[in-house]
Amino acid sequence: MLHIRNYINGHYCDPLANEWIENVNPATGEVYSLVARSAEADVNAAVQAAREAFPAWSNMPAKGRSEILLEVSRRIRIHLDDLALAESTDQGKPLSLARSMDIPRAIDNMAFFATEILHTHTDAYQTDENTFNYTTRKPIGVVGCISPWNLPLYLFTWKIAPALAAGNTVVAKPSELTPMTAFMLGQICTDAGLPPGVLNIVHGLGAECGAAIVAHPEIKAISFTGGTVTGKAIAAVAAPMFKKLSLELGGKNPTLVYDDVDVPHVARMVARAAFTNQGEICLCGSRIFVQAGVYDAFRSALIEETTKFVVGDPLADDTRLGALVNEAHMLKVLGYVDLAREEGGRVILGGNRVYLEGRCAGGFFMQPTLIEGLNAACRVNQEEIFGPVATIMPFDTEDEVIAWANSTMYGLAASVWTTNVGRAHRTAHRLESGIVWVNTWLNRDLRTPFGGVKSSGVGREGGTEALRFFTEPKNICLQV
Ligand code: NAD
Repeated sequence: MLHIRNYINGHYCDPLANEWIENVNPATGEVYSLVARSAEADVNAAVQAAREAFPAWSNMPAKGRSEILLEVSRRIRIHLDDLALAESTDQGKPLSLARSMDIPRAIDNMAFFATEILHTHTDAYQTDENTFNYTTRKPIGVVGCISPWNLPLYLFTWKIAPALAAGNTVVAKPSELTPMTAFMLGQICTDAGLPPGVLNIVHGLGAECGAAIVAHPEIKAISFTGGTVTGKAIAAVAAPMFKKLSLELGGKNPTLVYDDVDVPHVARMVARAAFTNQGEICLCGSRIFVQAGVYDAFRSALIEETTKFVVGDPLADDTRLGALVNEAHMLKVLGYVDLAREEGGRVILGGNRVYLEGRCAGGFFMQPTLIEGLNAACRVNQEEIFGPVATIMPFDTEDEVIAWANSTMYGLAASVWTTNVGRAHRTAHRLESGIVWVNTWLNRDLRTPFGGVKSSGVGREGGTEALRFFTEPKNICLQV
């Protein structure tokens, strides 16, 4: 059986206690590898390696760090096929999606920050004729990066790339449900010439290995992406230690469709926003508000487009909806369909588990599901489901839909669909959301700030925001 081992100080090693967690392929339900169950002692070893590597890495000219990280990016590209297969096997997503979205984005993440670090500047202020202030930005030291299971290598590299580019050394933990591509990245980094100890990857459970990273006194900053409840627990430990914290948390994103749109086209885009990656993207639009004038036509078009999300073996070319990440998560998502019925909702498409034949007979599949007849305040419309389930609701006025869109504790992403530019601007400004897409979805420019408001997080990733997070400014005031 394959053992997914820690990568510490440039080498793969077993967890010190030699304990392992079973790793299941969600498309088959079978255990296919064992994951290191690391504890505090493993994290201590990783931190020690990172501390020793910090002086040389942080003092290396930015160009040197850039060249190594670009080489990591190139080598991820060389291994695209292997990594995409590993991602699909570990996570359940269609292989075609891993090939076209996840791994290409990991390549871009590394290349983006490897080059951005060459084009940064710091601030200077002239107070009077003889007094000058200038600000330097230095890497923090050893930082911790913790990532979730939905977009494994995509989000893992989104964190480690700016941390490393800025000159920090890293102790990183991928989700225990999807550790495979982060495991493979270790060898890629070694082959690319990343010095030992600069990136250390420890595997294990959140409450053990993750908690040990958060509590370690030598780790000065934590960049976390995951659930809101976990984010709260991390903040409770890290805040009294005065660690820098970046928290990218859950979402319950609204999709607003006004009555002036091209219905068939927008229905296609809205279905994509709801069901890509089995709805397991923090940015998926799962509450679909449609203006009354086009409601009936849009409802029919949306059903037609959603039906095209063929559930199947993630390795098959025509599959658009793979397996959910594990059985517990699938049961949770199906539970929300039951709750929707209790809350008065009507399931107008899907709603059931799918049992495939052959290789995938034991897998965790469900139909893409559309529900109508619910109000905006019910639990199904307030809680994050994180699966292939979306609700559709009619609205009349701008004020009404904005109030409903803003009515959850979350504020990560929203999409607005209209051909009226004034309406687009007004709506975008009034939405309580870190990201608003107008007539598009998941359209990402890596230079832009990325993150949420309210319970969707604290801080921003992306572009200069990420480099600012992973550095400390120092102002030097000089009187001549
Ligand atoms: P999760 O919070 O359960 O786990 C995320 C990571 O944190 C995992 O690596 C886990 O092992 C670790 N962890 C768990 N408990 C911990 C603890 N006490 N201390 C330290 N680490 C701990 O989240 P998940 O189920 O893996 O991911 C799904 C969630 O992530 C959803 O809520 C989704 O919206 C969110 N998400 C947010 C974004 C974003 O950018 N805002 C992106 C993707 C996913």
